[in-house]
Amino acid sequence: MAERSVGTGPIGTREIESALRAHAGAPQTEGSVCVHGDPSEPPEADYVTVAGIVVDVTTGTLHLTHGNPCTAPFTTLDLRSLLG
Ligand SMILES: [Zn+2]
Repeated sequence: MAERSVGTGPIGTREIESALRAHAGAPQTEGSVCVHGDPSEPPEADYVTVAGIVVDVTTGTLHLTHGNPCTAPFTTLDLRSLLG
């Protein structure tokens, strides 16, 4: 899949991974996809991002992190054998 910078053409896997890693400001900033836990919040109000997942249907690959996408590396899995 061709990958280009955002705003110049199709958005590729790397651009989506970058968006999942991005923070609008500090790690607890509202509006970020990647959210870190805040032990000062009550459990029902304490949100945390546990994975980042991108599925590229054009290549049949799944890219995922185990943990916050801003710190955990993306691992690529080839799903083509599962798709038939
Ligand atoms: Zn983060």
